[in-house]
Amino acid sequence: MAEELNPFKIAQQQLDEAAKVMELEEEAHQMLREPMRTLVVNIPVKMRDGKAKVFQGFRVQYNDARGPSKGGIRFHPAENLDTVKALAAWMTWKTALANIPFGGAKGGIICDTKQMNDTELEALSRGYIRAIGKYIGPEIDVPAPDVYTTPQIMAWMMDEYSNIVRHGAFDVITGKPLDVWGSEGRNDSTAMGGMYVMREAAKNLGIDLKKAKIAVQGFGNAGKFAYTLSKQLFGSNVVAISDSTGAVYDPAGLDLAKLEKAKEETGSVSGYEGGQKLTNEQLLESDVDILIPAAIENQITGANADKIKAKLVLELANGPVTPEADRILHERGIFDAPDFLVNSGGVIGSYFEWVQNTQHYYWTADEVYSKLDKIITKSYADMMATKKEYDGKGKKVTPRTAAYIIAVGRVASAMKTRGWY
Ligand code: GLU
Repeated sequence: MAEELNPFKIAQQQLDEAAKVMELEEEAHQMLREPMRTLVVNIPVKMRDGKAKVFQGFRVQYNDARGPSKGGIRFHPAENLDTVKALAAWMTWKTALANIPFGGAKGGIICDTKQMNDTELEALSRGYIRAIGKYIGPEIDVPAPDVYTTPQIMAWMMDEYSNIVRHGAFDVITGKPLDVWGSEGRNDSTAMGGMYVMREAAKNLGIDLKKAKIAVQGFGNAGKFAYTLSKQLFGSNVVAISDSTGAVYDPAGLDLAKLEKAKEETGSVSGYEGGQKLTNEQLLESDVDILIPAAIENQITGANADKIKAKLVLELANGPVTPEADRILHERGIFDAPDFLVNSGGVIGSYFEWVQNTQHYYWTADEVYSKLDKIITKSYADMMATKKEYDGKGKKVTPRTAAYIIAVGRVASAMKTRGWY
């Protein structure tokens, strides 16, 4: 039978697995298998040729038992409802594991930002907010950036929502630029959180980060900062990096200025001067200690999991490892740190931004990072403790299932206390 690659089916499968080991009550399980609300909108945008084009967008509010639903918006040509549903479920587990007062949501628009100019992007961003405006709000659902969306896009969306509610509603969206009350440290908080998890996991696994060789898949917000921060914070050697079109490998390490030059001049990091060109597949299988998938879902599957050489896989993307691959990596003794822990720094940074926006009182970057470190390091410790507890009961679980048990338990308990079942 072909491996299941539908992200929503995968998210349900992961939940089912956790529900079984933790003996989750049937009512809670049922409620958590499907999103609470799904919006599909069609947005007309006047393009540069004067003609209107209709874009389809989604917003899925998965669960809000623990607080307003929270999650990013992706602009992607291959976006689809099932992927957005999966990502919204994962946001629910992410905020619950971090123990911050939010539920989970996700949004997406089918579009190719590389083919659009700023005027078209702004019109699309504003149109999306007009379409979903009635259903979001600082106490209802708080969006943020994700794949191919930027702080500037968040600013346009915040401005459009502010027009609807007739006041500056800075707290409706996070990941904004600093001059419209974004937060210090939010821009690199996804990668920074990942670095804190990498530090903790490396301690457990006896990996010396100073000597470690790292490969990073992706050169977006998460991947680029993962590259710079692992060098800056730990002096690690990032030997391979990729973007959507290709990868570059150099055992002596890669230089940021040269990577950016390659990106600017050739459109891809694979245009790097020197080093060796690789495909994205080869990057994943390269001979490194730590592999950081920081791009999109379904990258490590049943087809390549047995070729991964890293000792630690740090899932900075959402959904990069399928359940089949998860099982294979686990059996091979590779530690796979799950996405909704590793990349939770993004939403934790967003939480701090929202708190600052609602209090109109702003923190320094150091305050943000040290608060982030505390929360995510505790999440990691909680996950390891739960894993130990279940392993001790003879129910061997993966780190992901351990994290699920905590997150699902918290959401179920909130639903029960609120009287939903
Ligand atoms: N898009 C990020 C994620 O997948 C951040 C979400 C947020 O900040 O709300 O976690």
